[in-house]
Amino acid sequence: MKNNFVCNFLKYVSFDTTAGEPQENKASCENQYVLGHYLVEQLKKYNPDILETNKFGTIHAVFKSKQDSDLKNSICLLAHMDTSPSCSGFNIKPRIIEKYDGKVIKLNDATSLNPNEFPSLNRCLGHSLIVTDGTTLLGGDDKAGIAIIMDLLTNFDRNTFKHSLEILFTTDEEIGVDAFHVDLDKLVSKYGYTIDGGDILYISNENFNAYSMVVTVKGISIHPGSAKDKMINAINVAMDFHNKLPKDQRPEHTEHKQGFYHLLDIKGNEELTTLTYIIRDFDLKELHKKIDYAKQIAQNINKTYNKGYDIVELSIEETYLNMKEALDKNPHIVQNVINSYKRLNLEYKMEAIRGGTTGAHLSFMGLPCANLGTGDYNCHGRYEFVDVDQALKMVEVLIDLFNN
Ligand SMILES: [Zn+2]
Repeated sequence: MKNNFVCNFLKYVSFDTTAGEPQENKASCENQYVLGHYLVEQLKKYNPDILETNKFGTIHAVFKSKQDSDLKNSICLLAHMDTSPSCSGFNIKPRIIEKYDGKVIKLNDATSLNPNEFPSLNRCLGHSLIVTDGTTLLGGDDKAGIAIIMDLLTNFDRNTFKHSLEILFTTDEEIGVDAFHVDLDKLVSKYGYTIDGGDILYISNENFNAYSMVVTVKGISIHPGSAKDKMINAINVAMDFHNKLPKDQRPEHTEHKQGFYHLLDIKGNEELTTLTYIIRDFDLKELHKKIDYAKQIAQNINKTYNKGYDIVELSIEETYLNMKEALDKNPHIVQNVINSYKRLNLEYKMEAIRGGTTGAHLSFMGLPCANLGTGDYNCHGRYEFVDVDQALKMVEVLIDLFNN
């Protein structure tokens, strides 16, 4: 199956765009610019009305439709160029499986995709799949999204489509800074869709509210031989703090709409120890309750030690918020997609994403965005695969969306 989508996708994943550490004035890895250059050359072939890139490598393009010459009905589609640092993206060797028969797929001698372990494979019977060789991720998150948007562009009829097409290919989504790499004042659309989900059954109108929390514990280090009643071991205090957080509210014990505290990192010694958390909840009130609870624990510890200064300090920052709030104010964004699904006789379910997307950030920066699937499964790891038939269905959904 060598269609336009597959050819583009295979080309895009040949660039290792694994995100690195966030940088002040540029993208986190050089290859995002190299892939970006390739994409810009592709976009040029379709005579864009606007085509620009910025220092972060973000690509912005606009293709006007004659039915929407003043760009009042323009729709923005977003996808990101980087891949997750959680798994290697170097030297990806994708393999195409035609007409998947429902059996175990051997990726290499030691690694297999087994439908018993990954029941989502049953959604892909008879479809063409693209899998890895079991040593790297695939990069379908989110190069499948880019290839879907490119495929829409090849079908984009400037004479008849009701909506103009605005494209944002962003950088460094996986490290959470992609939205800051976007020049918002240059956008012409009033809303958009992030093409960065999994199974196309799901339309996502919700995501977590997300905060980060850094807990700093200042101890008093004294030779352990003469430490009685003097030493405050910051490591022990940090462990006490952590153990007072509700254990059933950790990611490994939560699902669906339940929120959590997730300890990402702990480092330190007797003098100084820091704990880094992310806090998540779909309900903002519940999230603030979680924050208040953590503050209460810190206060109690400080009271116990009564040093005249706080030995435990919290630094809490908002990362992104639930896009539902912005989407509820603009119900047509989700409704228009549902209408397209219905016209194409496609089944759909609304889904709350237990994570964030570019669109979630942008929803609160003035561009409300829902999230749509790409047919990519098991992202961020070596079991990742793309269902090509689903990706092509999403192209059909978008064609319908731009036509109506
Ligand atoms: Zn993604």
